[in-house]
Amino acid sequence: MVLRLYNTLTKSKEDFAPLDPKNVRMYVCGPTVYDYAHIGNARPVIVFDVLYRLLRQIYGEAHVTYVRNITDVDDKINARAAEEGRSIRDLTDQTTRQFQSDVAALGSLPPNHEPRATEYITKMITMIETLIASGHAYAAEGHALYDVSSKPDYGKLSRRSIDEMMAGARVEVAPYKKNPMDFVLWKPSTPDLPGWDSPWGRGRPGWHIECSAMSGALLGETFDIHGGGIDLQFPHHENEIAQSEGAHHGHPFVKVWMHNGFLQVEGQKMSKSLGNFFTIADLLKDWPGEVLRFNMLRTHYRQPLDWTIRSLKESWNILERWYGVAEPIATHRLSDDFLAALCDDLNTPQAFAELHKANEMELAGGLGMLGFSTVQEKIATKNAVDTHAVLAAIAARNAARKVKDFKESDRIRDELLSKGVVLKDGPEGTTWEVKR
Ligand code: AMP
Ligand code: ZN
Repeated sequence: MVLRLYNTLTKSKEDFAPLDPKNVRMYVCGPTVYDYAHIGNARPVIVFDVLYRLLRQIYGEAHVTYVRNITDVDDKINARAAEEGRSIRDLTDQTTRQFQSDVAALGSLPPNHEPRATEYITKMITMIETLIASGHAYAAEGHALYDVSSKPDYGKLSRRSIDEMMAGARVEVAPYKKNPMDFVLWKPSTPDLPGWDSPWGRGRPGWHIECSAMSGALLGETFDIHGGGIDLQFPHHENEIAQSEGAHHGHPFVKVWMHNGFLQVEGQKMSKSLGNFFTIADLLKDWPGEVLRFNMLRTHYRQPLDWTIRSLKESWNILERWYGVAEPIATHRLSDDFLAALCDDLNTPQAFAELHKANEMELAGGLGMLGFSTVQEKIATKNAVDTHAVLAAIAARNAARKVKDFKESDRIRDELLSKGVVLKDGPEGTTWEVKR
């Protein structure tokens, strides 16, 4: 079956042909770790998890390398740590752990590599030196800046005019810049800010160079797929291309660029001031991770997604119905239809429609479409265990564990056990089965 993916670079759906089928390589921009991840941040995690699982299915588990970074050096982190009077490392460590447990609860596999930017500072400095030596960058007043005029195809991903790019990047006009579009690779740090020694003085990297350095170090000069939210297309991804191609003799950086659409809440941009801001951790208190994941994937990843309580309830109901009627039958035709939908640019809504037609949950579980669905759950339903109640109890137990109320979490586990339901905690969250 041919996998077809929409490539933002060519603005078309293309047949996917990996550079090396023995090592299919994908990089996705990860979170900046200064606060709880919100449900919008969960979208790229879930979408590219489905792609990761699909690639592993097609090319074999050992032949896919997935890198998702942790941005642990950033001005927002510095500001938050100062505000809370805690160390940067403490803030970034705790936020990283929270993020990892949140996305595991959404049924996402850990990537093969989860590099932290602070571990790649030397790579970043070397890359900037190469850019300066090859005429793509210059040093000025403790900064290193990328010279946009040195790359004639700058803007090829977002296909914007210079004027639009200037507006989109909210470019800072600074006396040390040759051109207002030039962007920061390295900037000076005051003594109270994190900094590393460099040829341009003590300082810290710009955000864009972090991803170029980490992807280059772990995946090589050219790799197959680069993903992230649509908001990152410009300037972040445009600048990653300029840096990586500039530092690698113009060799192409990425074959396929993929961007997920934005998520809104109840028809509005999610924001704290509107009171419609949901962290993943908040939602997991009320909804099983599986419901959140399913709700996310019912919309095609490139479409805008309106996250509503109504759609969440609907998602929960659909899942329950499916578990109630699913039969363990697998025919080749069915698998083909399901996979064909996914291979058509990750058409998850279509894949679910195929699933619905055929009542075939096992395959979905295998691909992590539903993340948690197991044959046991179907059997459990047959044994008249109330799936809804079990999922609710698991959610309550997760909430208790989050606040370290282990007495309560043990009580819930034991209560389920007394009804014959055994819980298993694993890297993909909690699964359950019925004791026979
Ligand atoms: P950030 O930590 O803001 O850099 O975001 C991490 C990832 O989440 C990026 O890939 C963003 O594009 C993505 N993202 C942030 N907000 C949303 C949203 N509301 N909808 C979809 N994706 C988002
Ligand atoms: Zn990035």
